[in-house]
Amino acid sequence: MEYFSIPGAICKNGHRVIGSNPSEIQQANFCQSCGAKVFNRCDGCNKEIMVKGTYQISDRDSDEYLPLPAFCENCGKAYPWTSLALEAAKNLIDSANELDNIEKVYLANNLNNIISDNPNTELVANNIRSLLSKAGNEFTSAFRNITVNIISEIAKRAIFS
Ligand SMILES: [Zn+2]
Ligand SMILES: [Zn+2]
Repeated sequence: MEYFSIPGAICKNGHRVIGSNPSEIQQANFCQSCGAKVFNRCDGCNKEIMVKGTYQISDRDSDEYLPLPAFCENCGKAYPWTSLALEAAKNLIDSANELDNIEKVYLANNLNNIISDNPNTELVANNIRSLLSKAGNEFTSAFRNITVNIISEIAKRAIFS
């Protein structure tokens, strides 16, 4: 495992701007994949966005190992892609026909517990896994697409593996 911490440029929809030249990455204004605005600083406090994590040497060829930071480490504000994904997840949850209202409220209220790790993350992740299996395959795959880049490794493993 190798530790890294690199300046990040990420579009509002959560696409990472990847490149080998940091100054080039920092100059991207709009996303090549979706055309949305690219952020390289927190829109709350203007602190540079850093992408941190660990990767195996074998991961180097893929950008999959690059996590999306969810919150600003300086001011704690949710980054734009985090807010957008949370909103999309809540809309999706509203539309789940197989879940009752109590289950929908539980899911929506516990999204924060799977984004960043805390003592409740594993328990919540297991509960969410059960709710997803009740909600069905189509819902689960839509939920995965929306959340996979913003939830923690622990949550990802507990919910989707
Ligand atoms: Zn994009
Ligand atoms: Zn900030």
